[in-house]
Amino acid sequence: HLPNSADTALRARAAKVIPGGLWGHLNAKNLPEGYPQYFRSGEGCRLVDVDGNSYVDFMCSWGPVVLGHHHPAVEAAAEAQRRLGDTLNGPAPVLVDLAERMVDMIPHADWCLFQKNGGDATTACVTIARAGTGKRKLLVAKGSYHGAVPWCSPSMAGVTTEDRAHILHYDYNDIASLEAAVDQAGGDLAAILVTAFRHDMARALDMPDPAFARRMRELCDETGAALILDDVRAGFRLHLGGSWETIGVRPDLSAWSKAIANGYPLGAITGAERWREPATKIFTTGSFWCEAVPMAAALATLTELVRLDGPAHMKAMGERLRAGLSAGAAKHGITITHSGPPQMPLMLFADDADFAKGSAFCSASLRAGAYFHPKHNMFLSCAHTPADIDRAIEAADAGFAMVAAIG
Ligand code: PMP
Repeated sequence: HLPNSADTALRARAAKVIPGGLWGHLNAKNLPEGYPQYFRSGEGCRLVDVDGNSYVDFMCSWGPVVLGHHHPAVEAAAEAQRRLGDTLNGPAPVLVDLAERMVDMIPHADWCLFQKNGGDATTACVTIARAGTGKRKLLVAKGSYHGAVPWCSPSMAGVTTEDRAHILHYDYNDIASLEAAVDQAGGDLAAILVTAFRHDMARALDMPDPAFARRMRELCDETGAALILDDVRAGFRLHLGGSWETIGVRPDLSAWSKAIANGYPLGAITGAERWREPATKIFTTGSFWCEAVPMAAALATLTELVRLDGPAHMKAMGERLRAGLSAGAAKHGITITHSGPPQMPLMLFADDADFAKGSAFCSASLRAGAYFHPKHNMFLSCAHTPADIDRAIEAADAGFAMVAAIG
């Protein structure tokens, strides 16, 4: 059994001073039994919890860590900038270097803005779209996550119906529902938001149907609405030019964050020329949005991703993981399905509506040294090597044995 006394003690202290113990998606109460809440350190694809247990990590901080924890080139770039200054009276030169790099790398991008979190980026995209069209309605896929602010929070607690007054829904990959929502918006459509693929929690992942994506592009062109690609979660793992480069459809605006700076706090919006003027007019900022250290980290991260061909490496490692998990499941006579891109995989068990099997699998695999997730897409990084994947597949054998044992 894993030692967990330091984690337990921290949780008990937090329960008194932090509402609910922890806000948001990282709260370990939503994870299977035995998962730690607190971590001591990370190195490459290894994560060490506060009690000293080490895991091969398949969540990568829920996306940000794309090169591996504590990556030397990123840390060196961040440290060099930190010695010069981080939050100053204005940005450091690295702001311009990074904006130029983004515009060079991303085909639809003529300009770039920076924020902190993904929700800052998606929210500012919406503001730019409304400023640029003078219209109000937003189309959002049912169940898609775009952030934790009132217009898009998954919880209605503290949110008013007025906050959602101009949101209409469509079903991901369903052209008829998209057309119906465009009709419903009448002449008042500001934007269609879409995630890179359907990555809603607790269900199989769906890749975007190219015909659906092309129809969305047409509808935006016909109505003048902005096609906003929310690439916060998938960005830089599927394609370095934006995730929809893989299907040949270009957005007007893209929201980025998570992987852009390998764990340093940074969000970004890239946009096409037509949206430069509204992006100039809106008021968007934050006390820390010009921080130079995350920008230096981002520049180093993007350089490494290009040098390593990060998406191809992560794809190969994700495919190796899938093949190993499939073989492990078959050995124990267990039926599983894989979905999503190999770089951001999800494995579900057959007949597991309550995720009892997935949770048992994850708890037992965790004890054997692999940190998986039963119902959220996982994340590969450039630090995963074939040996790490094989080590995790070994740990997963304990997970499959547990599932076989509980029937
Ligand atoms: N959009 C998507 C697709 C996301 O996955 C997330 C974060 N999980 C966000 C937006 C919001 O990003 P953040 O939590 O950094 O505000």
